[in-house]
Amino acid sequence: MSPQTYKYVIVGSGIFGAVIAERIANDLGEPVLVIEKRDHTGGNCHSVDHSETGIHYHLYGTHIFHTSDTEVWKYINRFTEFNGYRHQVLTTFKNKVYQMPINLETINSFYGLNLKPFEVTAFIETEAHKSGIDQPSNFEEKAISMMGYPLYEAFIKGYTAKQWGCDPKQLPASILKRLPFRTNYDESYFFDSWQGIPIHGYSPIFDKLLANPRIQVELKTDFFEIRDELAEDAKIIYSGPIDKLFGYKYGRLEWRGLSFEEKIREVSDFQGTSVMNYAEEQIPYTRIHEPRHLHPEKVYPDSQTLTIKEFSHADKGDDPSYPLGGAQNKALLEKYQAELIQHENLCVGGRLGDYKYYDMDQTIAAALSTYDKISSQTK
Ligand code: UDP
Repeated sequence: MSPQTYKYVIVGSGIFGAVIAERIANDLGEPVLVIEKRDHTGGNCHSVDHSETGIHYHLYGTHIFHTSDTEVWKYINRFTEFNGYRHQVLTTFKNKVYQMPINLETINSFYGLNLKPFEVTAFIETEAHKSGIDQPSNFEEKAISMMGYPLYEAFIKGYTAKQWGCDPKQLPASILKRLPFRTNYDESYFFDSWQGIPIHGYSPIFDKLLANPRIQVELKTDFFEIRDELAEDAKIIYSGPIDKLFGYKYGRLEWRGLSFEEKIREVSDFQGTSVMNYAEEQIPYTRIHEPRHLHPEKVYPDSQTLTIKEFSHADKGDDPSYPLGGAQNKALLEKYQAELIQHENLCVGGRLGDYKYYDMDQTIAAALSTYDKISSQTK
């Protein structure tokens, strides 16, 4: 089928696009064209076996699936089984390793104390009170009012400055909601009811999502180059950056992008955990991933391990990962969203389209609800 014959065209084959394509093909029974600029499907979830070590890894940073949404959990389980991996993170500060998120072990180890759970809240409140912040209005103030300045300075300030490339005072407090703070010894990073890593990685999920022969996937294809070839009344479901869709006419949204440095180490286990954060600003990378730990059920060679350093940088919108947010970006986003409303046949979503710091499960939920809207207009 040529591009102009499709009634449904999806731009981007990450979670948002692939889930909607699956629903249109399998539930609505309609043909759908998926346009993907990369040479693979799956967006930033893409995962492969490393060519030399055979260790399965995520090319765009470690992705842990976690959700408490029953509908999302049921849906994704139609396409994969999960292993029993429970995410834990550690952080290195001044050459010493601490548990992250900050919990009782982090606090006791950092302060050289042996506080009990029933003592720690009062201790932290006293620390936080010293800052004199009553009404936190940004990321830094929120963090200090939660944990006090010393813990903030050690574990949050430097990491956040590296990750976001700005003074944490300029960031919205909402980012902090992602980071739990525990007054017990619970080391798990997520509270969610269900979590794990897909047993065969993420890529086979996308192969299954896009398996229906009604779905035509065009890789290495730039939507903006073939846009004119599409039918005028085609429904376009776009999951790229929203400002790019409108030619950046009001200006560019700010993003952070990531780059990675892979290294094979001649040891069986380099850091003993899948993700080690580096809290200090002077260390140029934010974290080191060691993907062998994501699959404790797999047998990997003992002689080698793969490590991947993660670096954060400003992104011009070519390969964005994290929306920077803040008042200026919000105002710009609203302009693009107001413009979008005028285009009945355009539907925008996903982390890039909505300019929202979605997790994978939130993106699936958003895709399912967008599909419900599309199908209700059709049926
Ligand atoms: N964060 C931090 N220190 C850490 C881990 C996280 O300061 O050791 C802050 C940082 O601002 C980060 C945010 O918490 O951007 C959210 O962390 P999360 O682990 O959710 O980031 P992601 O895995 O999405 O990159």
